[in-house]
Amino acid sequence: MREIVLIYLDRSGGLQKFVLDCKKYNDSKQSYAVYRFIVSVNPSDIAELDATLGNYILHNPIQAAQIFQSVCFVAVKTLSLVEQLQTEAQINILLKPTHLPPLPSYILDLSAFPFNYTSQRFYEAEGVVITMATVTKYTQGARFLCTGETCPFSEGFRHIRVHVPGATESATVRNDFVCSLCSSPLQEDMKFRVLGDKQIVEMIDKKALNALKGYSNNKSHFRIQTFTVFLR
Ligand SMILES: [Zn+2]
Repeated sequence: MREIVLIYLDRSGGLQKFVLDCKKYNDSKQSYAVYRFIVSVNPSDIAELDATLGNYILHNPIQAAQIFQSVCFVAVKTLSLVEQLQTEAQINILLKPTHLPPLPSYILDLSAFPFNYTSQRFYEAEGVVITMATVTKYTQGARFLCTGETCPFSEGFRHIRVHVPGATESATVRNDFVCSLCSSPLQEDMKFRVLGDKQIVEMIDKKALNALKGYSNNKSHFRIQTFTVFLR
């Protein structure tokens, strides 16, 4: 699938954008724990190129991003795009679909029962934002070093923790991680921490607007409940 990812990136102009993003990082001379790249994907175009990859992006986006990550790392190394970047773990790819297939299974309807939203894939939700918190910072990526003095992972970029969609922030930064090589405690190297913007909004489903209009849907009882959305 890596070859197809490369073909797609090349044809869609994604590769060109990636090279430009790399240039910005390279010119900044700044060293980070992770380098974040947003890749726009058109599910129809990808499915036409390769149905398996298209399906993978729609239904396993986190794993699909890992294929893009590995392709992009090879590109960075072979073309020497970012001098400071050392390991594949430092590349954080965010796949952003241009649209989703216009099918009911891609619509997030929280009033539907039974709930079946445990899979970590893309859904479309339409509603009205009713409250908004201020924009705050969260940790997008962090570098950890092994405290074992003789351990090879006490330097370099071996223990990189990246925030993945849907995860809590304590999954990225915590003080009880241990080295995968020698089991010594890990310590964060704060100089390399990468922060991003986060905003929490409360939304109501667009269907709730009918109730607010006084429109009767022939149900004597109904309840309107907001849902929380994390924008990162
Ligand atoms: Zn270690």
